This record gives sequence, structure tokens and C-alpha cells, in this order.
Amino acid sequence: MIPFLDLKAQYASIKDEIDAAVLNVLGSAQYVLGEEVAAFEREFAAYCGTRHAIAVNTGTSALHLSLLAAGVGPGDEVITVPFTFVATASAICYTGARPVFIDIDPVTFTMDPEKLEASITPRTKAVMPVHLYGQTADMAPIMEMAERYGLAVIEDACQAHGAEYKGRRAGGIGVSGCFSFYPGKNLGACGEGGIVVTNDDAHAHMVRMLRDWGQERRYHHTLKGFNYRMDGIQGAILRVKLRHLERWTEARRQHARRYTELLAGSGRVTTPVELPDRRHVYHIYAVRCGDRDALQRELVAEGVQTGLHYPVPIHLQPAHEDLGYRAGDFPVAEAAAREVLSLPIYPEMTQRQVEQVADAVEQEIHVH
Ligand SMILES: *Cc1c(COP(=O)(O)O)cnc(C)c1O
Repeated sequence: MIPFLDLKAQYASIKDEIDAAVLNVLGSAQYVLGEEVAAFEREFAAYCGTRHAIAVNTGTSALHLSLLAAGVGPGDEVITVPFTFVATASAICYTGARPVFIDIDPVTFTMDPEKLEASITPRTKAVMPVHLYGQTADMAPIMEMAERYGLAVIEDACQAHGAEYKGRRAGGIGVSGCFSFYPGKNLGACGEGGIVVTNDDAHAHMVRMLRDWGQERRYHHTLKGFNYRMDGIQGAILRVKLRHLERWTEARRQHARRYTELLAGSGRVTTPVELPDRRHVYHIYAVRCGDRDALQRELVAEGVQTGLHYPVPIHLQPAHEDLGYRAGDFPVAEAAAREVLSLPIYPEMTQRQVEQVADAVEQEIHVH
């Protein structure tokens, strides 16, 4: 069987380093925040090319606090996309603001900037593009429009560690960028984790206070804050893994190139496109297929595990039906939800496994 991802393989490849880092934190007793988390913040900020990084407990918390730091609250609107993980919209709802969806671009699966201006209202406070699958949204027109209307741009970079747009790292383009370290992400903790990166001193200060009960000094609470702190053990593990991230990203890119070569002539699937001004980090390698569900069943029979990211766009989720959207509102997102299939991709995958998966996809053409 070829798994969709293999977290055990990654741990095995760096076991000694991880174990030593964990034992060090156990001995230091800095279990929440502490020196390892502070060092990780400095190193991740440097990786993203930003002045600040503030570590939190999840990617969702990173989004929530960034929105609050940008002044988003009840009665406001935040423009985002319906084709993403549900957390993007939920974080907006946590602030009391309303998510306003616009459709995606059919090639990159990210926000279609052409749709942006028409959905701006006097209540719009922020725009939240999602760098889906590991490729950035088209940031230049989004930033330009946001500047013209005085809107904050908060990047959902939860799938895009190390992705680049016109030579700039994801997360450092808008007022802030939010990352997740959920175990399956390109940089994953051994548990939950997240971070906000920013070049804005005031935004950083606000997020830093809000993650730790709104206090500037211990027991002096300036703001109504949250307990969104990162664990010391996760900080130490993430420091170790960050040192391997570029190598892992290059392995993902290599696997993606091989898939794309092997599937180029396929009559059955369309392969992902990496645009020339971007560095795609392939958190997900999603192909498009008209009979997606059949292909997925056939691959299971061939011993290939796949994923669906995502089968139901957020505007059609029962949890968000109060927003008042209907089927047909975002045809590009709805078609993507029907047609995308995520093939296995992770750094420790072998070239042979990539070829086996591609073979299995191609083979089904002959069965039909
Ligand atoms: C993973 C993810 C999140 C949420 O991150 P958590 O760490 O699971 O809270 C948000 N947005 C996107 C696009 C994600 O992929």
C-alpha cells in the first residue's frame, strides 16, 4: 500500500535529534512558551523574511488573533474564498465578523482577484487569500486593491511554508501571514501548533498580548485575551524540523515534477500548474478528473491512498448555511470540489512509489 502521507517515516529519519530536543525541554521544565519557543520564533521569522513571528497553539488561533489585531470585529466583513479548509471561515466568524466569499481561479485554485472589487462594501475590513495546496494566491492585484480601499490583507499560509511569490516568501506580503504546524503540514509539530509572521510592530505586539491573556506584564491585563500559547516541546521539535524544511520542500518539488512528467499525456487527469513567478511547495498534489470518485475507488483497489481537499466548499456546508449562500453561487469552486483528487506526496516518498502511483492512474485508462 502507498499511504497518502507517512509521518512515521519522517520521525524515523530524524529520531535522534527529535528525542534529544524533547528530553531537553523535559529537563528544563519550560513546558509553555520559554526559550525554545522564543528561538523558534526568531528562526521562523528569518525563514519568512519578516521582522516578527509569534508562536501560538494552532493555525486557526493564528488566523483568529491576526484578524483581531487588524481590528476586525462584529459587523465587519472579511473577503475570502469558499474553496479552503473550514478553519479559514471559522476564524473570521470567531471575531463576530462575516465571511464574504468570492470565487477562485480555475488553474491555481486560489482567490480570483478579478472578483474582489465588486464584493467590497463599506463594512469590508480585511481580505484573507488562501495559498491553497502550497502555491500563493495572486498577491499583487490583491494588495493593490486592498491598498486602494484601506483593507488589511491577512494571508492564510497554513499550507504554504516556504512558498514564494515574485521572490517573496508567503506570509510576509500582507500585514501578516498565518501558518499551521498540524502534523501533516509541510512543517509539522508532534501535536498542534501555529504562528503569525509580520513586519508590523503594532500587529506583532497585539498578537503577542492576545495569545497570553492580553497581558503586557504578568497579571496586568490590558486586553481580553486568550490562552493560545505554544508548548515548549513543540517549539523545540519545530526548531529541529525547520533545519530540514528546505531539503523536504525540494523533495516534494521533485516528486511533483516527476508526477507531472509521467501524467503529462494522460487523457484522464489534468496536472497542477506552477506559475512562473511562484514557488509551489506542494503541500498537496491535486489532479483534476471528470470522474474523480471512480478514479479514487480504482486507486484504492490498486493500493494507492488518496485524499479530497476539499469535497464540499464552505458556502455549502450546513455549519455555514446562516450566511445565505446557495449551490451555483461559486461555480469554479463547486466544480473543483467535484473534480480534485490529491495524490500521495511527502518528502520521504521514493521515486519508485511516485512512479507506481502514476502508473496506477494511467493504467485505469486502459481498463475503461
Ligand atoms: C490546516 C489549515 C488551517 C488550520 O490550521 P490548524 O493548525 O489545524 O488550526 C487553516 N487554513 C488552512 C488553509 C489549513 O490548511
